[in-house]
Amino acid sequence: MQEFDSQNADTSGASRALHVLGDAWVLRILRSSFRGSRRFSDFMRSLEVSRAVLTDRLNRLCKDELLHKIEQPGAHPEYRLTERGLDLWSVYIAMWKWETHWGTGVDTSAQMHDKPRSLLIHTGCGHAIDPIYQCAQCAAEISPFDTYVCETTDDTVSERPIRQMLKSEEPSRKRYRKSSSGDRSTLPTLQKVYGDRWNASLMASAFRGHKTFSELSNATGIWPSALTDRLEELQSIGMLRAQSYAGSRQEYRLTRAAVATFPITLELIRWGDQWLPPQGPHFQIMHRPCMHVLHAHWHCPLCKDALQRQTVRFK
Ligand SMILES: [Zn+2]
Ligand SMILES: [Zn+2]
Repeated sequence: MQEFDSQNADTSGASRALHVLGDAWVLRILRSSFRGSRRFSDFMRSLEVSRAVLTDRLNRLCKDELLHKIEQPGAHPEYRLTERGLDLWSVYIAMWKWETHWGTGVDTSAQMHDKPRSLLIHTGCGHAIDPIYQCAQCAAEISPFDTYVCETTDDTVSERPIRQMLKSEEPSRKRYRKSSSGDRSTLPTLQKVYGDRWNASLMASAFRGHKTFSELSNATGIWPSALTDRLEELQSIGMLRAQSYAGSRQEYRLTRAAVATFPITLELIRWGDQWLPPQGPHFQIMHRPCMHVLHAHWHCPLCKDALQRQTVRFK
């Protein structure tokens, strides 16, 4: 990854997470694991994937300790999620919610294996739910506009607002479904975003309030030609919208569909901070309503309990 300045991008837990997860097949294989796939043949059946690609990604997932391979005498080996892999459950809840409201769940052209499961059950109360993402401190539902970033370098903490990055607008469905040219064209939107580290880094950077080409370039370390490509792709899938300002200059704003991915970004940051701790300075996300460092959790909207891996299942 020569074009990627990891030192710069390592300040974000999401970037660290995406060094491991930022591949469309990795995301699909993990989702298939959460849906119960164990054996090579299960993955082959549930995904339209070549043996070579599947072998490569399963090896990589084992090396990164997201799956572990269990050899059994007289039987095919099984690939099971490790604790590190299982802890992605809340990332997948975030992705499921987005897919259900904005993605393959409402896209009639999406392939079956990319469709979200139709129901999420909270076994604590037994109901099918649309989970809500709440601050652990003040219980307010999380909005990116109520958060800001503190960069922690030595003793100094500088505040950078996350708000002001979006003008209210209706999502353009037509534009958002339009595929770009090339091999990636059939990938669903989320896999285009999170299956590509640069796209995902750009989204995380936009959530941190970066809007102009140079701000995004500085924050992500992506070099200019690759940055131009990614900005075009993110616009073509309806995640960013270019706006002119100061004459000929442009800035990039998150669309509403993009703002709805905020829990995915926060969950990737949480997972990255938990399992791939930062080496140097990093940033913390603060919650403005309570002025605490943000720890967010998924909650049941009916019984109000915090969801846990063991208390949710898909149907
Ligand atoms: Zn709060
Ligand atoms: Zn409940």
